[in-house]
Amino acid sequence: MVKKEFQAESKRLLEMMIHSIYSQKEIFLRELISNASDAIDKIYYRALTDDSLTFNQENYYIKIEADKENRFLKVTDTGIGMTKDELESNLGVIAKSGSLAFKKENEMKDGQEIIGQFGVGFYSSFMVADRVTVITKALDSNEAYKWESQGADGYTIEPCEKDEVGTEILLKIKENTEDDSYDEYLEEYRLKAIIKKYSDFIRYPIKMEVTEHKPKADDDQELEEVKEVQTINSMVPIWRKNKSELTDEDYASFYNDKHFGFDKPLKHIHISVDGAVRYQSILYIPEQVPFDYYSKDFAKGLELYSNGVLIMEKCADLLPDYFSFVKGIVDSEDLSLNISREILQQDRQLKLIAKNIKSKIKKELQSLLKDDRDKYETFYNAFGRQLKFGVYNDFGANKDDLQDLLMFYSSKEKKLVTLDEYVSRMPEEQKYIYYATGDSYERIEKLPQTEGVAEKGYEILYFIDEVDEFAIKMLTKYKDKEFKSVSSGDLGIEEDDKETSNSEQEDNKALFEYMKNKLAGKVTDVKVSKRLKTHPVCLSTEGDVSIEMEKILNAMPD
Ligand code: ADP
Ligand code: MG
Repeated sequence: MVKKEFQAESKRLLEMMIHSIYSQKEIFLRELISNASDAIDKIYYRALTDDSLTFNQENYYIKIEADKENRFLKVTDTGIGMTKDELESNLGVIAKSGSLAFKKENEMKDGQEIIGQFGVGFYSSFMVADRVTVITKALDSNEAYKWESQGADGYTIEPCEKDEVGTEILLKIKENTEDDSYDEYLEEYRLKAIIKKYSDFIRYPIKMEVTEHKPKADDDQELEEVKEVQTINSMVPIWRKNKSELTDEDYASFYNDKHFGFDKPLKHIHISVDGAVRYQSILYIPEQVPFDYYSKDFAKGLELYSNGVLIMEKCADLLPDYFSFVKGIVDSEDLSLNISREILQQDRQLKLIAKNIKSKIKKELQSLLKDDRDKYETFYNAFGRQLKFGVYNDFGANKDDLQDLLMFYSSKEKKLVTLDEYVSRMPEEQKYIYYATGDSYERIEKLPQTEGVAEKGYEILYFIDEVDEFAIKMLTKYKDKEFKSVSSGDLGIEEDDKETSNSEQEDNKALFEYMKNKLAGKVTDVKVSKRLKTHPVCLSTEGDVSIEMEKILNAMPD
């Protein structure tokens, strides 16, 4: 048996592979399972075109076995196997993908599920193993072969015995070092968790022997340890199922399984798009604000899958900040992945998906507002602030997307109303959308500044959130109606009284001069006003920054 060396480039690549391509060691299992699944898929595709071959779903599975004592981890599949030549070219040449070649040969387009494409995933096993042994028997072949390697210095291939078609990959797991522990890759609970995390939606069963604690047959009080082989993965992703097959409970339990939140989802959105970009998605609007939502620790993002395999736990690029409360998953077969299948290159498809998702969320919120006002208000009370920040941020670039989703408390309705509702019931002569700011609805109600506007019968929006006034300053207008603070100097309702004001101003000139001097530095002018009804005096502002905004701006750290 001659030891063959990897090609020079391969050698360097292998070193790099082991040390730097993947940020997490645990993904070696994802890669081996993906290869096993590809190998089974290949038989499946063969059977589609070859009448002599039947594909019986029950005969195809992937098996994981750990031998803690001897530090072996074995991944077995009943897939298509490899011939001697294939072993040589697929595992002897790094960055050569037999799977990519298979896809090309078979001109697979639609329904292409095969995961492999870069020809490096297999070598990730050297991150956790000192020695890797592959025993394989190809379909339509009578010979089995054993490939073995201890890493960069090369590999051997020799004939061996194997009864069934398929492949067995045996990893000799590394001993712990001072810095790294490898024991975990032999632990049942860890292996189970890794399979669940990355490979839950592999379409063939991933079997593993697990220890269960079950009541003893003769005594249901006492538990005994029972070993049994179980299928660890759930196989069919819920998002690939038909909406009509799924109940609200199914969506809610997926939400909880995924630990998206401890609450119930307020609303779910199940999307399946088959156009310029293909993707499936399930999105959730939570009912409650996550405890860290308005803190620095909160990170937005959706789980991203490529063909059912987890690629990224939190893909931030899929959500605009103002919809950062949305949880969920996206699965697409059209993503261009980079070599480690971890980080996506600046991807056009990803951008298209993000855009599409944004408009779906917006539409869904709009119909919630229309069809289920109570639910929308629950949502708005939880996340409305984020929408208002969204209007304010990016210099108002998103205002068109968001303005119809905003709500403010109305002096007339004594509840939250939309801007559209406000504008649609404005009397014809009313020029502005009026608002008043304060700490609470009760306090705003008592503000002298609101009296004149209220007297006219005009509705006033009460702003108690700091961001409110900043947000509407970004909007400037809604349906051609400008916003106007009830504290501003010119309210646009006093023209009729201009004449009398002028004479009154003249009559009281001496008094006003006196007051102005007394309040020097605090006020810029003292004027007669018609807007007061029961209060003797009120403050008003000129210009863009209101008293409330000034307070907030002054309170901000420099
Ligand atoms: P990729 O999966 O991206 O092609 P890998 O390094 O993971 O790259 O695998 C290299 C090639 O080795 C695969 O393309 C496939 O042809 C072959 N291979 C790996 N594992 C198996 C397996 N379990 N059964 C059959 N072929 C396999
Ligand atoms: Mg692979």
